[in-house]
Amino acid sequence: MTLERIPWDQYFMAQSVLLSLRSTCTRLEVGATVVRDKRIIAGGYNGSVSGDVHCIDDGCYMVDGHCVRTIHAEMNAILQCAKFGIPTEGAEIYVTHFPCLQCTKMILQAGIKKIHYLKDYRNNEYAMALIKQVGATVDQVTLSKKYFAELQLGEEETASVEEAPQTDQ
Ligand SMILES: [Zn+2]
Ligand SMILES: [Zn+2]
Repeated sequence: MTLERIPWDQYFMAQSVLLSLRSTCTRLEVGATVVRDKRIIAGGYNGSVSGDVHCIDDGCYMVDGHCVRTIHAEMNAILQCAKFGIPTEGAEIYVTHFPCLQCTKMILQAGIKKIHYLKDYRNNEYAMALIKQVGATVDQVTLSKKYFAELQLGEEETASVEEAPQTDQ
């Protein structure tokens, strides 16, 4: 079997899918990866402020049909850059769902020039117009099964394995 290298788009989007599995808000599992010069510089998922309770434990904090506890994956990824002083100018972002208007504005204002998304999700018209207006681009990525078919991660869980202590967020 010949080895076909996984293209960058597939690799970065798969990273976002993996991150989405860490989401703590049950409303929507979203993952986001910020990439600069073909390197991952940050990642985020839908979750609470560090130190707050998680929606998966306490239920969502709903106001007007939205969970107000959650920081969106895109915002978490960009805030990670802010926290550690990593420039986002000219970067790209890979998101599992089309970003909401607030996240789109933040992405553009952070200087991110390319938005790659996996799934359509209430694609906001003004967000799309803004992307065009500022000269950024958006494209939909489709994950191709052939690059992941060979992945057989993990082993079967056995009854004796104790759950690892949850010390992180
Ligand atoms: Zn929630
Ligand atoms: Zn958002």
